[in-house]
Amino acid sequence: MVDTGSELKVLISRRRIAAVVKRLAEEIRGDYTGLNPLVVGILKGSFVFLADLVRAVNMPLQVDFVKLTSYGDSTQSSGRITVLLDLNCQLAGRHVLVVEDIVDSGLTTAFLCDYLRQKGPASVKLCAFTSKPSRRKVDIRIDYLGLEVPDKFLVGYGLDCAERYRYLPDLCELKEK
Ligand code: 5GP
Ligand code: MG
Repeated sequence: MVDTGSELKVLISRRRIAAVVKRLAEEIRGDYTGLNPLVVGILKGSFVFLADLVRAVNMPLQVDFVKLTSYGDSTQSSGRITVLLDLNCQLAGRHVLVVEDIVDSGLTTAFLCDYLRQKGPASVKLCAFTSKPSRRKVDIRIDYLGLEVPDKFLVGYGLDCAERYRYLPDLCELKEK
C-alpha cells in the first residue's frame, strides 16, 4: 500500500463481513417480509454495507439516503448534527430501517431516528454494521447489530479518513506511525 504516514491492520476480514451481513439479512427478511420497508442509508459511510445488505435481504424494499454532518477530516465528532441531504419520499405509514456503518457516540443515529419519527412512519428501526459501546454518549437501541468493535479508528468497507480508504474490502484499523 502506498501510504507513508499511517499503517492499516485488518480488524474484520471480508470473509467475516460477508457472514455478518448474511446473518443480519436473514433477521431483517424475517421481520420485514411483506412490509416493503424503506431502507435509509446514512451517507457516505454506509453505502458499501447497505449495498451488500439489501442484496443479501433480497426481497421487495426501497432505498433512500440522507447525508448528515459528520467528522469532516478529523477523527472526533463535533456533536452538532444537521441534515445536508434529506429524503426524497413520504414516510407516513412506512416501515423505516436506518442503516449505519458504525455507531460511536450514538449522536448521529439518535438524531436521525428522532428526526424520522417526526414524519409519521409506521416504525423506525436501526441496523448498524458495527458499534463502539465504550464511546456511547446517548442511549440508542440498535435493533440489528453486526459486531461490537474496540475504540479504535476504523477505515475501509465504506469508512474513510479524509475521504481515503473507503474502497478497502476489509474493515481495518488505521494506526498513525
Ligand atoms: P456518532 O459519534 O454520532 O455515533 O458517529 C458519528 C459518525 O462518525 C458516524 O456516522 C460514523 O460513520 C463515524 N465514525 C464513528 N467512528 C468511526 C471510525 O472509527 N472511523 C470512521 N471512519 N468513521 C467513524
Ligand atoms: Mg457515518
